[in-house]
Amino acid sequence: MLNFAGILDHNLGRYPDKTVLAQGERRLSNRELFARVNALAAGFRELGIGRGDIVALLLYNHVEFVEAVFALNRVGAAFLPLNYRLSPSEWEFILSHAEATAILTEPEFAGAVEGIPVRHKLLLGAERDGWLAYDDLLSRHLGEEVPVEQVGPDDLQRLMYTSGTTSRPKGVRITHTNLLYKNLGHLVEFGITSADTTLVCGPLYHVGGLDLPGLGTLHAGGGLVLLRKFDARAVLDTIERERPTNVWLAPSMMNALLQQPDVVRRDTSSIRFIIGGGEKMPVPLVERIRSAFPSAWFADAYGLTETVSGDTFNDAEHMLAKVGSVGRPVVHLRVRIVDELGAEVPPGQLGEITLSGPKVFAGYWRDAEATAKALRDGWFHTGDIGRVDEDGYLYVEDRKKDMIVSGGENIATPEVERVLYEHPEVVEAAVVGMPHERWGEVPKAFVVLRPGSALTAEELTAFCRERLAKFKVPAEVRFLGELPRTPSGKVLKRDLRTLPVIA
Ligand code: ATP
Repeated sequence: MLNFAGILDHNLGRYPDKTVLAQGERRLSNRELFARVNALAAGFRELGIGRGDIVALLLYNHVEFVEAVFALNRVGAAFLPLNYRLSPSEWEFILSHAEATAILTEPEFAGAVEGIPVRHKLLLGAERDGWLAYDDLLSRHLGEEVPVEQVGPDDLQRLMYTSGTTSRPKGVRITHTNLLYKNLGHLVEFGITSADTTLVCGPLYHVGGLDLPGLGTLHAGGGLVLLRKFDARAVLDTIERERPTNVWLAPSMMNALLQQPDVVRRDTSSIRFIIGGGEKMPVPLVERIRSAFPSAWFADAYGLTETVSGDTFNDAEHMLAKVGSVGRPVVHLRVRIVDELGAEVPPGQLGEITLSGPKVFAGYWRDAEATAKALRDGWFHTGDIGRVDEDGYLYVEDRKKDMIVSGGENIATPEVERVLYEHPEVVEAAVVGMPHERWGEVPKAFVVLRPGSALTAEELTAFCRERLAKFKVPAEVRFLGELPRTPSGKVLKRDLRTLPVIA
């Protein structure tokens, strides 16, 4: 089987002096990246890390994150990206569940993970007792070359835990083949070449930051510009300075960019396409982002950790005609909408979104029950509700778990959220079902208003009443300063459901 890490050898031959990684003032050419990755791979070998090992990365976005990915894959090992906003006990759970061999982190997190039993602890950027300095390990081996390890069909490229939006994170087994087909889909869809540069402003521990199109751009010989973490002003400054050609932005990141007073005056003309997705993108938000980035193709996307992201994209030609759709599947991926019994439903009808193809994951790590539930008869059951129109365009309605059933009627929460977003005073909105004696459930809205807004719950409810069927109008509206979100920007609806009631 092909090892993803082999792309570096190819790119070294083609574009040795091209800058492929940039962060702040730092620049790395293919030649430099190749040398550092090989030295680090030799260092990993010195530590006995190789095929079958899993090494956790608990890092902000750094050049070293990407180096470690290539070096680990080069020796046949897998990486496990850890969400840096989890609590130490959650890190501990994941590390022991994954049986990680080693961890690479940075000083901010070292104290919190110090006691977790792993064979090797590597630290970026500082000396600390009991830790091996990343730079020492790498510089000990500079000049060495390590051949790319052959991998088997079950060998992991990475083990990646889901966002944990709806439940405890699950370990997703992603093979080299899964990633290669994911990259192929993105390269074909966006026509990515060595002339492209991706701005990575979402976290690298999430498929959005790492794979949309992230590693796919490197695969095509293009480059990455990294931001340590998302910051709306820094995103706009970096677009003007580095002139990247594409970026992935989750709805919450787009919202933050649109809050920047000078966003429409910034020079964003280098951006050829913006990938959306991660959660449902309200149509009013799409319209606002399109006026802020007039030259860009806005490609709303649908994808999951289990498929290494980016399963469907809305194409440039249908960006307007099919607004609200996440587009059509990438090459070699099939989408089928099925009913409760697993039978395919006709176009236009709602059902569960199922996916099949070589980019679909190999199962959950040490969780046969969850795997058997998700992977059935060669199809991955996503737990999302959607429909496909006559032209094959997918519309995601809601997560199965979030759909509200009120008096026997289904309410897709994004439909209510879209109406709330239409109100000019509303910055963010999320709707959840709340138990109701008579109707089973009724919608409850959580809303963030523009600073200084005097809008009342009654006024907002009246606004919804004019635009929605009666049973879809929120029975209650609560204003919050901000919505609880996962670090990748998804609204944590389970936290909203359990938010204490205030008098
Ligand atoms: P967990 O499985 O632990 O609850 P998660 O589902 O948030 O976490 P991810 O793999 O990060 O984990 O997210 C995938 C989910 O994100 C999809 O199943 C879907 O619900 C949602 N999603 C992604 N893109 C879109 C989109 N364009 N529109 C609506 N929902 C989307």
